Amino acid sequence: MAPSNRGPSDDYSDQDDDEKKTGKDLGSKRKFDEFECPACSANNPFDTFGNGDEVLCNWCGMDFRAVVDEDGKLRLKEL
Ligand SMILES: [Zn+2]
Repeated sequence: MAPSNRGPSDDYSDQDDDEKKTGKDLGSKRKFDEFECPACSANNPFDTFGNGDEVLCNWCGMDFRAVVDEDGKLRLKEL
């Protein structure tokens, strides 16, 4: 009977964990975990948010809708 040994053929060598995605690579799918309030200029740590999500400034209490353009740039529109 022949041994059914399978060689180490699993080759997961194409992992790119070290590669950092830039805003342009991700475009409008880019995610953010902080934002600068357009109203009071405070820097707010926030849960992960992306295009179309609402964010709330912890300092002045204003609501904004996040708009991420094709270049991965974040803009905040006042609600
Ligand atoms: Zn604010």
